[in-house]
Parts: sequence; C-alpha cells; structure tokens
Amino acid sequence: MYQIGVDIGGTNIKMGLVDDRLQIVRRVSVPFPHEDSEAVAKRIASEVRGLLAAQEVPEAELSSVGVIVPGSIDPTGAIILDAYNLGFHNVPFKAQLQAQFSGIPVYLANDADGAGLAELGRGAFVGCQTAVLLTLGTGVGGGLILGGRMFSGGKRQGVELGHMPLVAGGEPCTCGNLGCIEAYCSATALAREGVRAMQTHPESLLATGSGGDPSRIDAKFVIDCAKEGDEAAKAVFDRYVDYLGSACISIIHLLDPEVIAIGGGVCGAGEFLFAPLRANVAKKCFYGDFAKIVPAAMGNDAGMIGAAMLGRNAI
Ligand SMILES: [Zn+2]
Repeated sequence: MYQIGVDIGGTNIKMGLVDDRLQIVRRVSVPFPHEDSEAVAKRIASEVRGLLAAQEVPEAELSSVGVIVPGSIDPTGAIILDAYNLGFHNVPFKAQLQAQFSGIPVYLANDADGAGLAELGRGAFVGCQTAVLLTLGTGVGGGLILGGRMFSGGKRQGVELGHMPLVAGGEPCTCGNLGCIEAYCSATALAREGVRAMQTHPESLLATGSGGDPSRIDAKFVIDCAKEGDEAAKAVFDRYVDYLGSACISIIHLLDPEVIAIGGGVCGAGEFLFAPLRANVAKKCFYGDFAKIVPAAMGNDAGMIGAAMLGRNAI
C-alpha cells in the first residue's frame, strides 16, 4: 500500500507518494495557489492523481491521504482554525479534501506534529516511546511523542512548548505573554540579542562585520561571529545556550524523554551548539542519565513523511 503526504506551506505545496517503508517514491511541488481552500483542495487532488498515474499506482492501493499545514487545527482534526501564511481561517479543509478522494481516509494535522511523526518514522525518534522535537526558527515549535505515538494534547488543542514560560516578566512574546521559551530560544531571539550586543559593543565583530546595520544580523551571523571568537557574540551565544538548556531541562524534568531532537536553522551550528548545550543540561539535570540531545534528522522531507504517517498514527 501507499500513502500520500502533503506538506502545505505559504510558498509551496509539496506532495509525496510514500511507500510502506516511508520512502518517497515520487514527489511533486507546486507554488501555493493563493486561492480559496476549495480550489486548493481540487489542485491537490489533481496533482496527486498525476503522481499516481506517473508511478502507475491505482487509487485502490492508496491507504490514506495526510495533509499538514502551518497553523492550528480544531480538536476533531477537521477544520483549519488559523493558518495565517495560507490565508485560511475556519476552513473545513478535511471535508473539502475528502470530497476529492472518495473512499480514501483523509487526515489533517499541523506541521509541528507532522515533523515529530516523521522523526518517529524514519529519523531521530525511531524506536522511542517518549521523545520531543523542538524547532528553533522564527518561532519555536514543538512535537511530542508519547507512548510511541504523536500526542496532540489531552484536549487535542496541540502542545505549545514554545510558549512555556522561561523568564517571569521577560521579553515580550508573539503570543502576548512575557518571557516564553520562544522569546529566548528562537532564531529571532538570538538575532535580537545580537543586534543589542552590536549596539553596545561598537568594537565587536558583530558591529564591524555588519557595518552597524541591524538588518544584516540574523541568527547565523551571530553564530558565525561567536565561532570567530568575537567576545560580544560569544556572550550572546552562551546566554542563548543557557536559555535553551533551561528549556530542555523543563522538558526533561516533566517527561524524562529518551530523545530531544532540535530542528530549525539554528541547528546548522552543529556541535558548536550541541556540545555546550549538553554540558549545560548535564549541569542542571536532576538525573545523571538524561535524554539524548541530537539534531533533527528529517530535514525538508519531514512534512511529507509526517503527513503520510498520519493515517498510521490514527490507528
Ligand atoms: Zn509565547
């Protein structure tokens, strides 16, 4: 049997025909058509039929169609509540897709859950019962595996690891609260601190390397300056690692997971990030033997693989 995994993003829709070993045997990517959701559902169906025809797989061999979106889904898994990048609000997308695929179960989930599932299927969480994915990007997303399955919250409203409080009365967060993990551990937060350090340390590489232009300071630039040994950047990076270590500790002390995987652009720092992070966690941890902390393994295919696995997770 095969599954279809659809990863809808604000730029592209990626669709993959996935086999039982979770390999993508054929794929297609199309620009996201900024149309109403019904038209998008029809477009997806026509592309999927093209994939099946190209691979000579009859529709009867399709066991499910899974779709992930960057947004919130209602507890029944039927309605996209808010997906700002797509312009979808309160859209009954599962029904709209189901109308295109009669007799084939359709599943809908958010992208953090999909990424967590993909790690479980083929990546950093293979064989795990309890594992946590933290994605450090513009914001901080999280996926949680409990009992060997994706866990979307006791009331199925999703887990919001990025919005667990880290610093009481701290930096403002996108959610309206102060001091969330996202406000300290996102790539955006690392860049913000890099800009502040650039302004107070005009002699630093952060300042000279950027020409004092805040728009040229992103997370990667801060990491690169720290790698070069720039004291101001290193201080920013060390504080970032300390915050991220505290976020990991809260997760470890709550769940005692087997693995924490960290995804997103900040991971490009490699062992420059992971070695001090593990040391920071070891220093704060209640246990001597704690979760392995590793880079997420699935990269750009995570969405399609995770979407294709939604049918299995539902069983
Ligand atoms: Zn928040």
